[in-house]
Amino acid sequence: MVIVGGGYTGMMAAARLAWRGRAVALLEQNALGSGASSRNGGMVHPGFKLGAATLLKRFGEQGRALYQASLDAFALVEQTIETNQIACDYVRSGHLDLAFKPGHVQALENEAHVLRTEFGVTARMVPRIDLGSEVGTSQYHGGLLVERSGGLHPAKYFAGLTRLARDRGAHLFDGTPAAAIESRRNGGFLVTTPRGQIRSRDVLLATNGYTDDLLPPLRRRVIPLGSYIIATEPLPADLADSAIPHRRMLFDTKNFLYYWRLSSDHRMLFGGRASFAPTTVARARDWLYAAMVRVHPQLSDVKVEHAWGGQVGFTFDRMPHIGRIKGITHALGYCGTGVAMSTYLGQLAADWIADGELPGYWQRPFPSMPLYRRNPWFLPAVGWYYAALDRI
Ligand SMILES: Cc1cc2nc3c(=O)[nH]c(=O)nc-3n(C[C@H](O)[C@H](O)[C@H](O)COP(=O)(O)OP(=O)(O)OC[C@H]3O[C@@H](n4cnc5c(N)ncnc54)[C@H](O)[C@@H]3O)c2cc1C
Repeated sequence: MVIVGGGYTGMMAAARLAWRGRAVALLEQNALGSGASSRNGGMVHPGFKLGAATLLKRFGEQGRALYQASLDAFALVEQTIETNQIACDYVRSGHLDLAFKPGHVQALENEAHVLRTEFGVTARMVPRIDLGSEVGTSQYHGGLLVERSGGLHPAKYFAGLTRLARDRGAHLFDGTPAAAIESRRNGGFLVTTPRGQIRSRDVLLATNGYTDDLLPPLRRRVIPLGSYIIATEPLPADLADSAIPHRRMLFDTKNFLYYWRLSSDHRMLFGGRASFAPTTVARARDWLYAAMVRVHPQLSDVKVEHAWGGQVGFTFDRMPHIGRIKGITHALGYCGTGVAMSTYLGQLAADWIADGELPGYWQRPFPSMPLYRRNPWFLPAVGWYYAALDRI
């Protein structure tokens, strides 16, 4: 069994397949975990880019099953950490989705109602007047508070999954790009790497925002986008408490959203992006610092000590996908909310490969866009449109 991509998806699949007795070779072109899985904000929560209310409205029972899968994904992360004693600073802190415009409050109230009544999730609206008890800013008009949510150190979590896969006997090859995959006449595949070729009955592509031309029809369905984070110096306790008193995970309802939280060593981690145009970490750093100080003026004298970026994998329907193209399995497209879902789809892909069954609600069309091959030519226009919506 060959897995291409050494992030949460690939590593979880490797651990699961090795546990099921399969011989596993995982190929990672750079260092293991060097993609989004060690660079993310560490927010673990159920749900997708599309909310539970939208999923029910748009897809009915299939939408219900998909949202339920995201609850299962969240539970899987907690269970994986606990069972395997992964020291990754995990805390179930809850999260707040903050209304950027007054008009967004109604949708969040509706989402809270659907989460409570349809899924039994503890969720409630915090009205603007009470928001000060949750977040030290006057920029937002209310927030949806979901308790079943938490934060972890992404690279430590990844290290735990790696240990798990290795202990179970998976073979992990870093610095080993998969350069080509050919179908073999008698079934299975031949995977070519600069270090040699591997014959395998099954191949899983777990490449998300780093998906390349290995399988062009897959590339046409994933849009890689950069996301960036700054980390301040450790904050004095009173300043940290004034910004996020209960240490919730925070994000807002803009299209170009901000996401932020306190790390276990009391730094403010503040993430987002300004547009879909290509940028540099240095530019993103300055822009994010200005954004952080706009949201939390109390942090204006705080130094930024680190800045970095990574690629998220977007899809045209803003949902992740697991499926097969030309017999090659893929699991990807988390649209920036993949800590829980990539863990889950990695495991699900492994079970599908081992058992031959995939629940029907995951068997959904995977859309692309005419003329999209390698260059996402539509992004400047889409980015301009979303930025304009955020400004209105
Ligand atoms: C800055 C940032 C912040 C984020 N914050 C959050 C958050 O707070 N909460 C949340 O839920 N999600 C967040 N995400 C998203 C989350 O990190 C991802 O959804 C998740 O890590 C995806 O894991 P993955 O294993 O599918 O992909 P990745 O971890 O990106 O791994 C894919 C790997 O495939 C490798 N690869 C690609 N092509 C080849 C090839 N041909 N041969 C070999 N290897 C190859 C790449 O090198 C890469 O290492 C964030 C993402 C970023 C970038």
